[in-house]
Amino acid sequence: MTVMNARRPRPPARLRLISGAGLAGALALGLVALSGCGAPGKGTADIVDGRSGGKLAVTASFYPLRYLVQQIGGDHVSVTTLTPPGVEPHDLELKPREITRLGESGLVVYLKGIAPAVDDAVKVSDAKNVLDAAPLGSPRKNDPHIWLDPVRFGKIAEGVGAALAKTDPDHAADYATNTAALTGRLGALDTAYRQGLAHTATRTFITTHAAFGYLAQRYGLRQEAIVGIDPESEPSPARVKDLGDVAARDHVGTVFFETLVSDKLAKTIAGNSGLRTDVLDPVEGITDQSKGADYIAVMRSNLVALRTALGAK
Ligand SMILES: [Zn+2]
Repeated sequence: MTVMNARRPRPPARLRLISGAGLAGALALGLVALSGCGAPGKGTADIVDGRSGGKLAVTASFYPLRYLVQQIGGDHVSVTTLTPPGVEPHDLELKPREITRLGESGLVVYLKGIAPAVDDAVKVSDAKNVLDAAPLGSPRKNDPHIWLDPVRFGKIAEGVGAALAKTDPDHAADYATNTAALTGRLGALDTAYRQGLAHTATRTFITTHAAFGYLAQRYGLRQEAIVGIDPESEPSPARVKDLGDVAARDHVGTVFFETLVSDKLAKTIAGNSGLRTDVLDPVEGITDQSKGADYIAVMRSNLVALRTALGAK
């Protein structure tokens, strides 16, 4: 096991690139012995004392937190995200290697309550610096989607900035500057939402999973969700009928679905009630299908979609 000392430079990161076809070659080179040693045990090797390649090694549980860490950390941080693009964070499962890496990171930023696998990994890890973003966004019980309210997300940004400064005080001034710039952009996003949604024909929108409760609350809208907080749950026939009634009563013309979850349900309900469908993205991950390259761009696309659906003037 001594070869897997954490100071040994980099081999496991390269092992990840070995495909099934390359296994014979890897055996010949004796790399598999390293892999067998590294898989269940200690040492992702590129992280030493919480740093990777001279940068603060940060593990972010999913995209919105990765976005904050990158915007604020800039070149001073090396970020690993536990939720791959296109994976619903609610369903996330972690590999042993990822759990090991989380424990070695200089800073872990996660949001308790969205991905049970991450909550468990944080609990058993011996990571020294861990930031739970949930309390910063003052969540209600059972709804973790705080990042979809730009004001709450701004509070989380400030918390991430403070955690970076505390963990890596040499760059505290840069973190403070970047935090201020980012919260300024989030403030502008909030203003755009407030103005853009001030005058609408209806205040009700129908969406697949109940991710937009905080956004609705912030801007005086009403979210009617087909399923609950967990996007994989099934709606009852009574709920489906109920939504048809809501759509008629509140003059709802659109049923929203989202990029990472099947649109079948939304299309069925829309078809039954003669409504159109559109995308409202909960920004749980960015993929090729996302309506924007980053958090703010997707949130601006969501605003356009909401304005259309609600009949904004
Ligand atoms: Zn969600």
